[in-house]
Amino acid sequence: EVICGSSFSGKTEELIRRINRVKIAKRKIQIFKPTIDSRYSKTDIVSHANSTSEAIPVQNARVISNLVEADTEVVAIDEAQFFDVNVLDVVRELVDQGKRVIIAGLDMDYLGQPFGPMPDLMAMADDVYKCRAICMKCGHLANFSYRISNASQQVMIGAKQEYMPLCRCCYAEMMQEK
Ligand code: ZN
Repeated sequence: EVICGSSFSGKTEELIRRINRVKIAKRKIQIFKPTIDSRYSKTDIVSHANSTSEAIPVQNARVISNLVEADTEVVAIDEAQFFDVNVLDVVRELVDQGKRVIIAGLDMDYLGQPFGPMPDLMAMADDVYKCRAICMKCGHLANFSYRISNASQQVMIGAKQEYMPLCRCCYAEMMQEK
């Protein structure tokens, strides 16, 4: 399962909702996130709306294979866009072992380009759920994460002051002005 969308679209919110339901069903779950995302907390995944769940921070996707225990039934991965292509093999392995894998991540970077392994994960998924934010300029549904600053590295961990969600029209307008 892949949950994707722009910043502020509620991806992590939706991931945590699914995690909570797994816990209610008393299934064993392990949650991972890349160490690169230390915005709020080193060991929790936290949505902008502040719901949290404990996550194991990992340097790269390969580490996940080593850490998943045999009796784990569900594996959740947040901020999956930051992993390299190895995450594809790791997810394939887990699914082949009969585990349910739930992934959340940004589908596009701040330039509107598919982000890291997300397009492949979306292609492989049984189920893709695309969350949409609200455009900060016009109030329509938003798909794009507009970077407010002029920094040009792809990975820049976002909080409210760095990114804003925009619809396609407003995003195009803002990018033209840059
Ligand atoms: Zn708009």
